[in-house]
Amino acid sequence: FTPWTDPNEKPFITFRNVTKKFGDFTAVDDLTLNIYNREFFALLGASGCGKSTLLRMLAGFERPTSGEIILDGQDIAAIPPYKRPVNMMFQSYALFPHMTVESNIAFGLRQDGMPKPEIAARVAQMLKLVKLEQFAKRKPQQLSGGQRQRVALARSLAKRPKVLLLDEPLGALDKKLREETQFELMDLQQELGLTFVVVTHDQEEAMTMADRIAVMSHGKVIQVATPAEIYEAPNSRFVADFIGDVNILEGKVKSVGTGRIEIAGDDFTVRALSDAAHSPGANAAFAIRPEKLKVSRSAPTDPTVNAAEGEVWDIGYLGDMTVLRIKLPSGKVLKTSMLNAQREVENPIGYDEKVWVSFAETAGVILRD
Ligand code: ATP
Repeated sequence: FTPWTDPNEKPFITFRNVTKKFGDFTAVDDLTLNIYNREFFALLGASGCGKSTLLRMLAGFERPTSGEIILDGQDIAAIPPYKRPVNMMFQSYALFPHMTVESNIAFGLRQDGMPKPEIAARVAQMLKLVKLEQFAKRKPQQLSGGQRQRVALARSLAKRPKVLLLDEPLGALDKKLREETQFELMDLQQELGLTFVVVTHDQEEAMTMADRIAVMSHGKVIQVATPAEIYEAPNSRFVADFIGDVNILEGKVKSVGTGRIEIAGDDFTVRALSDAAHSPGANAAFAIRPEKLKVSRSAPTDPTVNAAEGEVWDIGYLGDMTVLRIKLPSGKVLKTSMLNAQREVENPIGYDEKVWVSFAETAGVILRD
């Protein structure tokens, strides 16, 4: 069941025309966004794009300058942070150094005046959830980075929020641990059936964990979609460039047919699919991922594929794949990549070889801007 694909499902969180200004500076700019119940949602963008500010407004640490934030059918503007069914886990974890793991986890429950036996039961449950039962009596400095992260997670889940907000939750972990923890977080979210909203500038992290991603820039959402849609069909040059590697082929619209377009560029005439309105002669750009380009020694025989001749400029061996950069007659260099498992072992394409680069008309997308 994927609520965000069910047209009848009501959004669980709605930002409606939300603007946040700090003095003259607009950190969040008239932003509208829906997040669904039990969704693992990522806010992705470069430093300063406003993603943390958006999360902080949901938590109640900042007030919108204008606009509404609706959570579970209720406008939450007037509700103080501690009364919202939302909890935030910070990148720094903000653990109390002088308290044991169990006291850290119990802290918010004590503040709420929960009876002691209930607190003990809840803490035990949380320790089990994050697999830290043996560490209950330790202090944070006696733990590894990954264990501290789990304590912070347990503490933010102890009050059973409906929404967990995670601000760069894995930023302090090394790469390997980060990758493991991504899957742990996904399992945990599934198990608890909660809505997770994570802020990250790491596209791989967002792609791995999230059901949907909002790509942000300058206080605005540029595209909201599943990881696959964002990668396969970026709606703009910004998103195409921001997520993964991309080649952009530019030219002028040569002809327009139903659902089809031809773009005349320096090296290629690109035939592609497009439903948008185009006028002949206008500038147009086509985005294609490196792995969608085929490199071969002979010209493709199928006349419907797009093809151009070029020369191998660089070869990069990355273990799992090889990146070939192909220089076209205009001087433009295309990046292509191929899994080594699929690369010819006997006589692989080498430096300076003349090659053909080709791709099907469905292999990339026309960019809107
Ligand atoms: P990062 O990943 O670096 O945290 P971000 O995308 O989360 O970046 P925000 O923290 O939301 O960005 O900040 C957005 C912009 O608003 C930044 O330019 C920041 O300097 C500014 N900003 C944030 N908080 C304040 C504040 N309290 N006063 C003034 N400016 C602020």
